[in-house]
Amino acid sequence: MSILDSIKEKVNEANSILILTHENPDGDAVGSSLGFMHGLRKLEKKVDVFIPVANKMYSFMPGFDEIKTELADDAEYDLCISLDSSDLDRLGSFGRPWFEKIKNTVVIDHHITNQNFGDVNYVNAVASSTCQNIIVVLAALDVAINKDMAVCIYSGMLTDTGGFRYNVQPETFEFVAMLLETGIDIAKIYRNLFDLTTEKRTRLLGRALSRLELLENGKIAFTYVTNEDEHEFENEDGDHEGIVNYGRNIEGVEVSIFLREKDGGYKVSLRSNEYVDVSRIAAKYAGGGHLKASGLELKMSFDQAKDLLVSEIKGQLKENEK
Ligand code: 5GP
Ligand code: MN
Repeated sequence: MSILDSIKEKVNEANSILILTHENPDGDAVGSSLGFMHGLRKLEKKVDVFIPVANKMYSFMPGFDEIKTELADDAEYDLCISLDSSDLDRLGSFGRPWFEKIKNTVVIDHHITNQNFGDVNYVNAVASSTCQNIIVVLAALDVAINKDMAVCIYSGMLTDTGGFRYNVQPETFEFVAMLLETGIDIAKIYRNLFDLTTEKRTRLLGRALSRLELLENGKIAFTYVTNEDEHEFENEDGDHEGIVNYGRNIEGVEVSIFLREKDGGYKVSLRSNEYVDVSRIAAKYAGGGHLKASGLELKMSFDQAKDLLVSEIKGQLKENEK
């Protein structure tokens, strides 16, 4: 049986479905969860999306208000579907126990580092986004994509490709053409995702930029934010997103490092421009992601984390010089 047929079987056999995604959910995580929720409901399924904290910037997506931020301990589901998460730990301490408890599991993702941790795993790492994979799965389930689904799915495709720059395949635009047929307002979606910001976000960005350092002859950009900063500006989860790109945009920079204090350690975002494979570094320290956009967590002091990351990147910069 093909993977898509296996997913169809799992979905057909289930009445109640729980959708989970990764911690600090981004546009692709929230978009694929809500888009798939709408799709599965067309099949008369009871579907919950569980995301304890989702940034309000995604509140324009239909169904955002229905996201469950808590689940009763005795809630029961026939099937658990993990979206846009490369491994069990990425589901967070809130999601992982549910994935482990629910009897049937499906994983849909596009991360090259995916660990295939479900009963059925649809991992197409060539796809722009998990949302793009959701389109294929919905087609296999014979669900026609409506406007609500399209808004969510288009959002994930748009954000995960950085505005259709990275990870784009010819099919990406074929799928987009199909989404446009539903009448979505792409100017409005773009503004919600890329232009509209809040004062708090802008202040945090300003703090990070004021600390920006260029290392290794300007090939590495480095900056960070602390818990204290986020407290000072009353930031919300996800307000740090996108800060890492400012370093990457500087002429001559190959890798941008962004650190965010978290649980006594640091959450790291890495972005590269041309030749450094940041997924290799992330994978070495139990993180993951893509060639040019990866993340990891380091439980160590600030100086240790910074030294470790810079030395890993220096190693690859040297390899390239050879
Ligand atoms: P970001 O830097 O925006 O948080 O993440 C960049 C990419 O790396 C995303 O594709 C994200 O899913 C992945 N990623 C970020 N942090 C982690 C992590 O701790 N573990 C894994 N497996 N992937 C991560
Ligand atoms: Mn994604």
